Amino acid sequence: MLDHLQQAKESFIKRFGEGGRIHAIRSPGRVNLIGEHTDYNDGFVCPMAIEPHVLMICRAREDGQVNVHSSAYAEHDVRFSVDGEIARARSGDWSNYVRGPAAMLRSKGVPMVGMDCYITNTLPTGSGLSSSAAMEVGTMLALLTLAGNEMGAQEIASLCQRAEHEYAGMPCGIMDQSIVAGGREGHAMLLDCRDLSRRFIPLDPLELRVVVVNSNFKPQLVGSEYDDRGRECEAGVAHFRKLNPGITHLRDVTLDQVLAARSDLDETVFRRCRHVVAENARCQQFAELMEKRQYEQAGELMVQSHESLRDDYDVSTTHLDHLVDSAVRLKGVYGSRMTGAGFGGCTVSLVQPRHVEQFAEQIRASYMQTFDITPDVIVTTATNGAQLIE
Ligand code: ADP
Ligand code: MG
Repeated sequence: MLDHLQQAKESFIKRFGEGGRIHAIRSPGRVNLIGEHTDYNDGFVCPMAIEPHVLMICRAREDGQVNVHSSAYAEHDVRFSVDGEIARARSGDWSNYVRGPAAMLRSKGVPMVGMDCYITNTLPTGSGLSSSAAMEVGTMLALLTLAGNEMGAQEIASLCQRAEHEYAGMPCGIMDQSIVAGGREGHAMLLDCRDLSRRFIPLDPLELRVVVVNSNFKPQLVGSEYDDRGRECEAGVAHFRKLNPGITHLRDVTLDQVLAARSDLDETVFRRCRHVVAENARCQQFAELMEKRQYEQAGELMVQSHESLRDDYDVSTTHLDHLVDSAVRLKGVYGSRMTGAGFGGCTVSLVQPRHVEQFAEQIRASYMQTFDITPDVIVTTATNGAQLIE
């Protein structure tokens, strides 16, 4: 981390020159242990912030100009002024992850100054570890810090979620921004996405390692699936509302109600509802088991979560299925599942520390042999959310 910080500062100075007070912000990625596709259904999630992160080196500018260079997207820098309207760039442009948070602060009337900013990352982009939220929350923290303002983690998260909706064009739930802004070292966060209350679940690094495996594979023709899932859940809600107008989200529906509605629901909608409702229960149960250090049972819920995402929610891939199937056969593994929205991305496994090395070696070998793709194995502890480190 220190080397990384020192190098990033040198790169900043090379690019923007010496002088002035230079700040550094670490903004982590996240992995969700369980509770997948539940956040936009007002349900429960259990993510933690991870060691891979974006590092933002920044310094205030008097002229209101924002200049951002990112080593991961070095082809073009981001430039705009905080004094005028901050427009959305074309879809897919990385500048939206900087423009969005700035525009949200502007819309709230939060005073801002310009900045020079240099970004490096150890966090892979577009792999389901929420580099998008890391960018948004880190940018917002930089703009707040440079103008001498403070804001609570949950307000930052809500504004960054809006930025993701309106600037990145991604209709995401509140999970990613909440954990990136509010993560706590050594803990996962059980978050109720309805009232935003949270409980921190200790993860003892002497007893457990969290291992993320990036499949490094994205199926083609992925586009509107996330929106489709949202619509299918809404179709489910519309049905249950007819029975009880108090039901506004799948959060309000029980598994018995879903099972009883099987013949009335479209088959796909039924399976989507069954996943979300069962996953909410699993997530809460998982948190309790982890608190009681009942890792075997907690791990079993992760495997059930994976099966439900694969069979009912249809968001897994053969690559992710292979990683999970291999993981659960290895020594010292409590549980494993795909994590994040799906359609490629990563799996997460809970592994006994003394078996981690062997786990990494064997899962890598098995995946390479099957798909001829090298996966990235990331062994991580739970870290703090985004914070000023200098
Ligand atoms: P994920 O959040 O799973 O990593 P997304 O597609 O939601 O994937 O967000 C990835 C996008 O976020 C990238 O395409 C890029 O536009 C932006 N981004 C992520 N990391 C960086 C970075 N280090 N520098 C600049 N932009 C980044
Ligand atoms: Mg994202």
